[in-house]
Amino acid sequence: MPFKNMVILAVIWCALVVPNAVFYFVNKDAKLKRKNHGWWMWGIGFVMIVSSLWLGRAQMNLLYFFVIIAINAAFSFYYTKAIVFCDTCGKTIFHIYPFQKTVNCSGCADKRQ
Ligand SMILES: [Zn+2]
Repeated sequence: MPFKNMVILAVIWCALVVPNAVFYFVNKDAKLKRKNHGWWMWGIGFVMIVSSLWLGRAQMNLLYFFVIIAINAAFSFYYTKAIVFCDTCGKTIFHIYPFQKTVNCSGCADKRQ
């Protein structure tokens, strides 16, 4: 991928990070976040797939095509499972290991002490 296209991809990515940060860290509504989290993560994955494919179209081949889709789909899937929300305070909690059901909210644990 030419350098210019990498910059464009980085700009697209940054443009997604800002609303992302507002949605996950400023917004304290756990219910709302849980409701929108799935499609939002897959939406970002989809945008990244389409823009990566479009920007890399000059060097397009079948391997590149599948690698881009696989990487982005894996990340989207991982984040839908790894990010959970505290029902008590609405905090966004990131699990390094996905599929953990328990929510150990550090903010609420501090308040209980
Ligand atoms: Zn909490």
